[in-house]
Amino acid sequence: MTATATAKGPGNPRKVIQGPAPQAARLRTRSVVEKTAVVREDRAIGAAAGRRTRQAYERPPALATFPRSVETNTLVSNSSLQELLCCFGQPVAGNPTQYMMEKAFAAAGLDWRYLTCEVSPENLGDAMRGIKAMGFYGGNITLPHKVAVIEYLDGLSKAAELMGAVNCIHCEDADDGSRRYLGENTDGKGFVESLRTVTEPEGKQIVVLGAGGAARAIAVELGLSGAAEITIVNRDPGRGQDLADLLGQRVKISSMFLPWTGDYEVPEGVEVVINATSIGLGDAEAQVPLALDSLRSEMVVADVIFNPAETWLLREAKDRGCTTLDGLGMLVNQAVIGFRTWSGIDPDAAVMREALEEYLEI
Ligand code: NDP
Repeated sequence: MTATATAKGPGNPRKVIQGPAPQAARLRTRSVVEKTAVVREDRAIGAAAGRRTRQAYERPPALATFPRSVETNTLVSNSSLQELLCCFGQPVAGNPTQYMMEKAFAAAGLDWRYLTCEVSPENLGDAMRGIKAMGFYGGNITLPHKVAVIEYLDGLSKAAELMGAVNCIHCEDADDGSRRYLGENTDGKGFVESLRTVTEPEGKQIVVLGAGGAARAIAVELGLSGAAEITIVNRDPGRGQDLADLLGQRVKISSMFLPWTGDYEVPEGVEVVINATSIGLGDAEAQVPLALDSLRSEMVVADVIFNPAETWLLREAKDRGCTTLDGLGMLVNQAVIGFRTWSGIDPDAAVMREALEEYLEI
């Protein structure tokens, strides 16, 4: 029997995912007897199909060579040792990354596993020691651990060090056999990759609304990418000024802070406006306090909100002829960068976006 590893496509009769639930969650709902039968069947398929081991990421195997359960259409590995990745956060249920990653692993022919783990702040140290002891290859770190995780790492990228926050861990193997775990921040890079699909950040006058984690990551990466000037507009003056100071003093670009009171009027000359606040999350009608008449058709207007993908701000900006960018692109891109960092392979971004939309039921 030949197994197929085709991971997507409505025309695929063996489509991996039939509903929005992650495959691991669906398998968990099966009885032990059913699961055992699935594993037995997959072992039989696997014997013919060949084995995937750690070298898979160095030499990506061809598609359709590792076993897939015929009964469930889910991937069940017959490998005794797989590359492992994780996502630590709390609360983390509902995080779409595992779903995106496992679809992308399958599309790339990688028999890897990605585990989403609920980790409390008091257990973060043990969890980090755990992944090191078990040789995890890396993973993602989400709220509330993005800052606290730094003390358990052996080094940081320049962006992560400037932002003081990590959302992606990867490792390096030294000649003596030891592993160094390194922290990266891919949120801002994901945004900049998204922006580059419509305009280059170099030399641009940019307004960032917000000064939280997302705004910090975006502003620092835009600064590192050569933006000419960044204005931070935020409700809390302490956070806003702090970010503007970071940009001026450490990223060495022209920056200023404006306290957000009333409807913000975008000044002449601004080329890119980014909503990096949480306004609009889960609410397509939530209004960002902006003087809409100050949006001009030559501007790019971006939103970090990915659910809903079309926010009130993006609708209003589109009506005024602006070029718009939704938060889904940033989310997919940061996952693409993580995948590439871990594997050295460019994943299929379209598979990841499709998985994300499927998971979020967009
Ligand atoms: P934080 O809590 O760190 O920051 C929230 C920001 O929103 C602060 O600047 C806060 O201002 C501002 N804010 C919230 N409500 C209002 C309001 N009513 N009026 C004005 N400002 C407001 O969150 P994050 O930065 O981590 O996340 C922000 C959003 O970005 C979230 O919705 C998250 O889902 C999204 N996100 C998207 C990503 C993607 O890949 N697309 C990646 C990461 C995050 P103040 O400081 O004054 O409180």
